[in-house]
Amino acid sequence: MAAENITTEHHAQLLDGALAAEEIKQQVRAEIERLLAEHNVQPCLAAVRVGDDPASAVYVRNKIKACEEIGIRSEHHALPATTSQSELLALVATLNGREDVDGILVQLPLPPQIEETAIVEAVDPAKDVDGFHPENVGKLAMGAPVFVPCTPAGIIELLERNQIQIRGANACVVGRSQIVGRPMAQLLLQRDATVTICHSRTRDLAAVTQQADILVVAIGRSGLIGGAHIKPGAVVIDVGMNKVTEPDEVRQLFGEQAAKRLEVIAKRGYTLVGDVNPSQADEVAGKRTPVPGGVGLLTIAMLLKNTVKAAKLRRQRN
Ligand code: NAP
Repeated sequence: MAAENITTEHHAQLLDGALAAEEIKQQVRAEIERLLAEHNVQPCLAAVRVGDDPASAVYVRNKIKACEEIGIRSEHHALPATTSQSELLALVATLNGREDVDGILVQLPLPPQIEETAIVEAVDPAKDVDGFHPENVGKLAMGAPVFVPCTPAGIIELLERNQIQIRGANACVVGRSQIVGRPMAQLLLQRDATVTICHSRTRDLAAVTQQADILVVAIGRSGLIGGAHIKPGAVVIDVGMNKVTEPDEVRQLFGEQAAKRLEVIAKRGYTLVGDVNPSQADEVAGKRTPVPGGVGLLTIAMLLKNTVKAAKLRRQRN
């Protein structure tokens, strides 16, 4: 009975992605000023987008805006949906060869006529600020990372800035994508966590995730991770970004806190939710990231950090 009372009164502490992102940006800003003062170099990010996927357009716009705010020069190459693979490869080759471009970002997904792997492999690894090139993936897997994908790198920053102990912790990553799950697992392993990776074929997901002191969820299914998946007191990092339009689903996810989200749906037609059921997680987890306001903001901050790192490393090599 007593345990039940504790459970119902419990409320997980929210990990503030905005605060951590702002701190990272301050550091990046200082490095940009140093680069300008010492080398007369202003870092430059070239963002390439093909087609008119609305979500991609928003992502690229946000990245460009963040660059402008912090003092990174940026270029936005918006190509038509009919662009051929060889045309895109030609643009990437030009950007690779340009001395004034430090980072290259090709927004995924690409239209079906373009093979993503061919484009990812064409980007100069020294300008690969997304960390998707096999050379950078390999270096990360060997425990000697140079450019690390921005979302998992941001999650590590968030954990470290909140003094969450990774060494020795049981960490579980749900999702094994190239951009989140796999690099996340590598980064946790490198910091001495005992890492388990789950995916759609995992038998009895809850039995595995329940063991985790640190649970990172990157699936893409709204609220799939509920209270029964979470170890009491665990740190839960919710990477998911899913659009929910149904008021009933919002009520089920947010319980008493649903009113604000229902207003958002009425205004915008949808609300963004993670892969973790927030009201259930609040009853069990020790700490968790909100959606929005958690991991998403860190992803952009880490892109800025990687761009400045690319600018510095290239100058050191030359
Ligand atoms: P993805 O490439 O679609 O991968 C999803 C992963 O989840 C796969 O490994 C899949 O397993 C696994 N999965 C699917 N259903 C499952 C289930 N029922 N149980 C256990 N595992 C399951 O997705 P992603 O690119 O990693 O993105 C995941 C989510 O994070 C999406 O909502 C995306 O929008 C979001 N995201 C957010 C940010 C950010 O900045 N906040 C950045 C990137 C992604 P299989 O491998 O077996 O198919």
